[in-house]
Amino acid sequence: MTRMAMQSILLNSGEFRTLPNDSSLTAMLAKNLQIVQVGYELLDSGEGVKTKQTIYAIDEEIIHDESDLIYTRPFSTMSALEQTRSTACPTCRQRRIIKDKWAECLVCQRRGL
Ligand SMILES: [Zn+2]
Repeated sequence: MTRMAMQSILLNSGEFRTLPNDSSLTAMLAKNLQIVQVGYELLDSGEGVKTKQTIYAIDEEIIHDESDLIYTRPFSTMSALEQTRSTACPTCRQRRIIKDKWAECLVCQRRGL
């Protein structure tokens, strides 16, 4: 999915008063380990001028279904409640939501670090 496609989904969800501009969206996507860049799409911006649009996707190595989202989310994107429930992963030292029976965070489990 391109950033333009993302913007239109965010806009249509109606949950945001203001949408992130293109450069802040780029920064957010770059910082989030749940997202990977999978390639480029050439977009015709008129008069035969083509611009390269990055295509983003969910990192399927660490996220297998929707319920995995909360366990892989970066601390900076957690809600206040999630932040209080988070603990530092003994393997990667990142603060994440970790189930009691887990020895490390879901990202470390999936990546086999
Ligand atoms: Zn970890």
